[in-house]
Amino acid sequence: MVKGTTSFGKHSRHKVHIVCRRCGHRSFNVKKKRCSYCGFPDPRWRKYSWGKHR
Ligand SMILES: [Zn+2]
Repeated sequence: MVKGTTSFGKHSRHKVHIVCRRCGHRSFNVKKKRCSYCGFPDPRWRKYSWGKHR
């Protein structure tokens, strides 16, 4: 066994969300390449009519 805490607290080492340049929130998923807050780079910016306008 490994003595000491070698791999302790390295869970959040890799950043997943970066600052979105559209909404400013740190919700831009690097892997998905999309902001989970505003939906960047999706053209529709969280339209208020999400499927209601039809
Ligand atoms: Zn955003």
